[in-house]
Amino acid sequence: MGYRVTLIPGDGIGPEVTAAARRVAEATGVAIEWEVVEAGEKAIKESGNPLPEAVLDSIRKNRLALKGPITTPIGSGFRSVNVALRQQLDLYASVRPARAIAGEGTRYPETDLIVVREATEGLYSGVEHWVDRDHSAAETVNVITRKASDRIIKFAFELARRRQRKHLTAVHKANIMKTTGALFQTAFREMAPKYPEILADERLIDNMCMQLAKKPEDYDMIVTTNLFGDILSDLTAGLAGGLGVAPGALYGDALAVFEPVHGSAPKYAGSDKADPTAEILCVELLLRHMGETEAADRVFRAVWETIAEKKFVTYDLALPGYTLTPVPPSTCSAMAAEIARKVPIVDPTTPLPQPRHRPVVAGDAQLET
Ligand code: NAD
Repeated sequence: MGYRVTLIPGDGIGPEVTAAARRVAEATGVAIEWEVVEAGEKAIKESGNPLPEAVLDSIRKNRLALKGPITTPIGSGFRSVNVALRQQLDLYASVRPARAIAGEGTRYPETDLIVVREATEGLYSGVEHWVDRDHSAAETVNVITRKASDRIIKFAFELARRRQRKHLTAVHKANIMKTTGALFQTAFREMAPKYPEILADERLIDNMCMQLAKKPEDYDMIVTTNLFGDILSDLTAGLAGGLGVAPGALYGDALAVFEPVHGSAPKYAGSDKADPTAEILCVELLLRHMGETEAADRVFRAVWETIAEKKFVTYDLALPGYTLTPVPPSTCSAMAAEIARKVPIVDPTTPLPQPRHRPVVAGDAQLET
């Protein structure tokens, strides 16, 4: 059976990394028909609208999309297409796995974390205004609802159960944000007893950042609100090897959009320098979501072996000081070609080194504020 998937190339390095990902997807032999639609800067030039209705219709129809990053001008210009897409399609769960690959590009080769971020409300709700005519004061409203908190927390526990993860940490700032933070905290505390096999604990956002920098192996999965999740998933991406290797997925009840954590990196646009790994690992997540497990395993294994061999890796994985042995950097297209070449010939059944999590014991479960 063939699949139809919406493809949004995006801005900056987006067209290069999505072309790379498409090449790797094609190497799996899974029949995917790509419906290419434009959002972002190209769509503005064509129609004046950065998020044309045709893009939303295509995703609603196909229920699956692979997306490149889209530029959001700071302070002015159009509102974030990424935020609008999540809100308009109710893609409420942003899942960002951060796994170190072959120990390369990272100081923390044991990293294996998943951040689950609420993606439709919080401080990204778009409710903000100037308080006075002089623009000397401004307010942004942090919208947290019980409904959205319950569904993201339930989503995170269910994902932990499916992936056989043993530890889920809720991250908030309930000591200072006594209404919004407390609402999220209460929702977590009331959901946790339904999943007795999963250690459920809490950290304040500031403490969580310190803990992750110091001992990431103590953590497994994190569930949090929109802004904290945006920041924490860049932090966990950094632990795992950088933005170049961090994929992501956005889920609604019926739709799924796969996009890397990184942005459009305009300074590298058109230079064939960007690391295609994050977008290629989005294809792995897409295939897994479709139930094409063997193809997904092949993509992951081909990425792993390409990075481990270090003959074709982009600058971020080749620089001295980050890799065990510095190598000359390759290009986005050459790295993608090597991964695609390996996909049909790798053996995905040989076990990979497993990341180490600190063993969890029942007495660890402290609900702290
Ligand atoms: P960015 O992720 O685009 O780039 C930050 C830096 O990370 C780059 O300068 C580069 O050094 C490195 N980097 C990022 N992706 C890389 C890759 N694939 N390979 C190698 N190095 C890579 O973040 P930014 O500069 O803050 O944002 C640029 C634009 O992207 C902004 O307009 C922002 O709003 C947008 N953005 C979009 C998304 C999205 O579409 N989901 C996400 C984040 C940022």
